[in-house]
Amino acid sequence: MKGRYGEFGGKYVSELLLPVLDQLDRAFSMARRDSQFNSLLNMYLKKYAGRPTPLYLAERLGKKLGLRIYLKREDLLHTGAHKINNTLGQGLLAKYMGKKRVIAETGAGQHGVATATAAALLGLECDIFMGEKDGERQKLNVYRMKLLGAKVKLVSAGSKTLKDAINEALRDYATNHRDTHHLLGSALGPYPFPKIVKHFQSVIGKEAKRQIIKEEGRLPDFLVACVGGGSNAIGLFAPFLSKKVKLIGVEAAGRGLKTKKHAARISGDGKVGILHGTRTYVLQDRYGQIRETHSISAGLDYPAIGPEHSNLYTRQKAAYVAVTDKAAMKGFHLLCRTEGIIPALEPAHAIGYLPKLARHNPGSLVIVNLSGRGDKDVEQIARAEGVL
Ligand SMILES: *Cc1c(COP(=O)(O)O)cnc(C)c1O
Repeated sequence: MKGRYGEFGGKYVSELLLPVLDQLDRAFSMARRDSQFNSLLNMYLKKYAGRPTPLYLAERLGKKLGLRIYLKREDLLHTGAHKINNTLGQGLLAKYMGKKRVIAETGAGQHGVATATAAALLGLECDIFMGEKDGERQKLNVYRMKLLGAKVKLVSAGSKTLKDAINEALRDYATNHRDTHHLLGSALGPYPFPKIVKHFQSVIGKEAKRQIIKEEGRLPDFLVACVGGGSNAIGLFAPFLSKKVKLIGVEAAGRGLKTKKHAARISGDGKVGILHGTRTYVLQDRYGQIRETHSISAGLDYPAIGPEHSNLYTRQKAAYVAVTDKAAMKGFHLLCRTEGIIPALEPAHAIGYLPKLARHNPGSLVIVNLSGRGDKDVEQIARAEGVL
């Protein structure tokens, strides 16, 4: 059924928003077939963001673990992560629809900065909703967004974090949709957002497929990617979904699955529910209240997972595993020392899973999505390790 991924997905939003989402779906269908739209997007991806990103054979890391590992280097993109693929795509889509303002929510600030970047580039007004508590914790990202010309609107409702910021952004969208596009940051939310974000992130998988065939003459045995909302993972997986490649999504096990301080929706104890307009696996208590989540990495710290991942899991097309804060930190240090690459804490979870993968599948050919670089996390890590 349209707008569904098996029993997941859909659009559980107020009636005010339904026609807006339909209009968005129609505009997106036109844009993705429009050669002018596509060549403009490709120009920005190439000349501004730095695509294609390399597929790099991590020989020392591979030797250490007994795998043949390629890293998809999204960390080398402008602004330091894959998020720019989606914000450039949706920024251009906003202009294609004749809108002059974009809004977005942000937790740690990464999606806010990527949105403000695209808005500055494309000459769009930009308002970013951020929980007051998050804004306090991430003052430098608030400043970055302001440098880029965005207004940051601090949200004092609820827990004053990401989920409250999302609610505010959805409210603003319902009121101002005539001139405003809601630039959603992951493969989440009501349909057609999961489809749109997947489309703009699929460039990762399309390049990787071409590159691995050129390097190795065959498809990989495994793809490994960390899963917050699920956009970098679905972007890598997309062109491989019909192939005999094993897909592994890595969720944050935080302090351990038994502690309840984690963000493992599928691999932990999430249940099917509805959050922010979509039906999917959600971390909730037995009364259906959304649970507090925990991860050392802000990008993986969200109580719901993109609906297509829930469906891939149910259909056994992809496997989802959980990696603790501690194992992610080990992965972080391992990549620093073996390859001279400081990863973001999110993809450090994907690296942290590799020793286990190697134990059961030695010698496999693996592509890991290195979704972002670690500059943003170095200070936090130094503090956690008592260096600062
Ligand atoms: C935001 C972020 C993620 C998590 O988002 P997804 O939508 O799951 O990809 C992962 N890695 C990095 C570097 C991020 O900034």
